[in-house]
Amino acid sequence: MVEIVDGKQVAASVIKSVQSATAALEKDAGVKPGLAVVIVGNDPASHAYVSSKSRMAKECGFTSIQHTLPEETTQEELARLVETLNADESVHGILVQLPLPKHLNSEPIIQSIRLEKDVDGLHVVNAGKLATGDLDGGLVSCTPAGAMVFVRRTHGNDLSGLNAVVIGRSNLFGKPMSALLLAANATVTTAHSRTRDLAAVCRNADILVAAVGRPEMVKADWVKPGATVIDVGINRIAAPEKGEGKSRMVGDVAFEECAKVAGAITPVPGGVGPMTIAMLMANTVIAAYRKAGRTPPTFCTGPFLSTWRFIRRLN
Ligand code: NAP
Repeated sequence: MVEIVDGKQVAASVIKSVQSATAALEKDAGVKPGLAVVIVGNDPASHAYVSSKSRMAKECGFTSIQHTLPEETTQEELARLVETLNADESVHGILVQLPLPKHLNSEPIIQSIRLEKDVDGLHVVNAGKLATGDLDGGLVSCTPAGAMVFVRRTHGNDLSGLNAVVIGRSNLFGKPMSALLLAANATVTTAHSRTRDLAAVCRNADILVAAVGRPEMVKADWVKPGATVIDVGINRIAAPEKGEGKSRMVGDVAFEECAKVAGAITPVPGGVGPMTIAMLMANTVIAAYRKAGRTPPTFCTGPFLSTWRFIRRLN
């Protein structure tokens, strides 16, 4: 029987741990984690994501600050806001929602966020720490961290002897995901648009992760029987069956047919998506613990010092 991974349920258990850690930090050190989310422009999907993040931050017991800037915001204005948030002692995490409007250059903005507040894990130093195996020093990008929680639930902390294939090599997802799998001792292949015979490469995977952005690209005959399939893709396709002009969300994996072959599979929606937000909250409380210089409370010894430990110790 295939396990359909319930991302909402797993995310809820992450949030519970974050809430306990937040309460303990406030009680012991008088520190309340603060998350600042910045959004520029009018993209409706980005606004929906940002609202969910701000709402979840409040539910976790954080100070939640949202900066909504108009479409015509200049690079200098955005840079100044990040500088202010960098200097604000009550802010432990800063997230600038991507993509930014076309006239803005996201890279210098992301790289100007203070390392220890980079809860999206996109700063080159945080990415570099992960790539060089410094798993406790930095902050790990939220979506791969969330996907890794799923992997760990099914396969445990040690992936020795298992083949993992990640389709996609973006800095946002593919590269950090491959690094996390490698750090857990999997034998990792990072596939991309230039990979030859992708189906054959995927058939070798005990753990198959798809992050491409092509609706239902991964077919049943790409999946090794019993494999764990993690679908990161978010794609909107036409759904005339729901009415004229309607659409529905699908992943990069043809879910129905792949579920007949896989051992465990994440659905879209309801799989990786909720975990991204949950891991953003985890990174924020980790950043707050580090800033407070506090030893984590005994009930959660260790996990609140780094994303990596958090993933490995999560119940
Ligand atoms: P991206 O930067 O566009 O990267 C896509 C990757 O897929 C690239 O490495 C590309 O290869 C590869 N690719 C494209 N066509 C391919 C093909 N035909 N065969 C094999 N590989 C192919 O995208 P991303 O930011 O990593 O995101 C990927 C997907 O995940 C998107 O659908 C995005 O919406 C979703 N996503 C979801 C979440 C979440 O919270 N659930 C978070 C982040 C991303 P090249 O490098 O060779 O071009």
